[in-house]
Amino acid sequence: MRERLPAFTSVRTGPDLWPHEAAFGELLVHTAEDGSPWALCYQCPCGCGSPVMVPSEKARDGSPTWTLTAEADGSYSASPSVRMTSPQGCKSHYFIRSNRIEWC
Ligand SMILES: [Zn+2]
Repeated sequence: MRERLPAFTSVRTGPDLWPHEAAFGELLVHTAEDGSPWALCYQCPCGCGSPVMVPSEKARDGSPTWTLTAEADGSYSASPSVRMTSPQGCKSHYFIRSNRIEWC
């Protein structure tokens, strides 16, 4: 079992990035046509290996969405918090603020 991640250590942005492509600690920012964040994709920061996608309101597929913010320093934030809820899952609960993982 890995240590829980305190922050993402690298960031890639692009229009065609998906959670299964993310290395542990890497934040993939799937961008919309206007360059704004469409979804954040990464491996669960608890170390369980689950791919996670945090979509913005632009996803509009009926699933929960988040407000994604590109900060002035080039980092990313998501609101509200992210909670893993699947019965088999790790139950992680955390905020993403300026690329940092703030565990609840
Ligand atoms: Zn996890």
